[in-house]
Parts: sequence; C-alpha cells; structure tokens
Amino acid sequence: MNLSEKLLNRSQSVCELCASSNEISQYDIPPVTKVDESTAIVICAECRSQIDQLTPINANHWRCLSESMWSEHAPVQVMVFRLLTQLKEESWARDLLEQLYLDESLMEWAKAGLPEEEEIDSSAPTLDSNGSRLTEGDSVTLIKDLDVKGAGFTAKRGTLVKNIVLTNNPKHIEGKVNGIQIVLVSAFLKKV
Ligand SMILES: [Zn+2]
Repeated sequence: MNLSEKLLNRSQSVCELCASSNEISQYDIPPVTKVDESTAIVICAECRSQIDQLTPINANHWRCLSESMWSEHAPVQVMVFRLLTQLKEESWARDLLEQLYLDESLMEWAKAGLPEEEEIDSSAPTLDSNGSRLTEGDSVTLIKDLDVKGAGFTAKRGTLVKNIVLTNNPKHIEGKVNGIQIVLVSAFLKKV
C-alpha cells in the first residue's frame, strides 16, 4: 500500500476533519519534515480552501471539529488543535479546545504551526479551568482523566494534586501524581 492508499484506508475515504467525501486529497501538516501517515491527513476541497486561506474562514463549517477532535490519529488531533486555536474568538471553539488533550510532544508539534503571537507569555497568570489564579503551593484536582505518557498510568479525574509548582509557561504547572512529578495543563485543573 502506498501512502495515499494507507490514508484513504484510514479515513474510509472521507475528510478526516468534516467527514465530507467531496474531492478529498492528502494534506501534509506543516512544518513538513517527513511525509508519512503520522504527518498527513485526508481533507476535502472545502476544508483545504479554508486551511490554505483561499476562502475566508467560515466558523460554522468548523463545528465539525467537535467530532473529529476525538480522532485517535495524532495528525488529525494536531490539525484540530490548530484550527480551534485560530477560531478561539468563538466560545464553542474555546470550549472544545479545553477538552482537547494533546501529550507534550504533540502539543509542541501543534504549536509549531501556529503564528508567532502564540508564543508563551511567561508573565501571564496561571489560571485553572474556572479562570481562578493558581499560585505556588496550591492544591488542585484534575477535571478529566489524563494519560500520563511514559509512566503507564491514567491520572483519574478528581485526583488531588497538592503543593503545585508553577512553571514559566502559564499553561502548565508541575505536581506529583502517584508519586511522580509531572507537568499538568492548567486548564484541566480546578483549584481546591
Ligand atoms: Zn472537510
């Protein structure tokens, strides 16, 4: 099977973002270093023209992301993350973005394709899921189950994390879960 056959097979010949079958084709997610099924997705003509900015972004079209964000395929997740970030003026897009969990390496890749202004603002406050400010030493609980990459366990929703440590990225804190110090996404925490 060549790459496009593999992709068509994976996507069942529909757009991996909106499920349309109209003029679907391979899209290599930038920055392209290698092209294989881990960096490419299948998209339709409509998604492509908006992604390539040939037609203006139509926010309503992208409501499809509420389905495709649950794709098990990393390149789809990365593309969904970037699109939702571009749409974050829309409250529904912000809500979805909060539910979309990417592990650290995927997040790095996802952000590598965002415009410069998405750079980390280390002077911004660290906020939890309710917008409450987190400070060094606070206790928080997880608001969703999180797979802890490399450690082989799932930190369950509701898990209490005491004595958190702030990082220079307001979107991340560090804390101990199951005795292991890990990085947690502030937006998935609730101050207790
Ligand atoms: Zn599409």
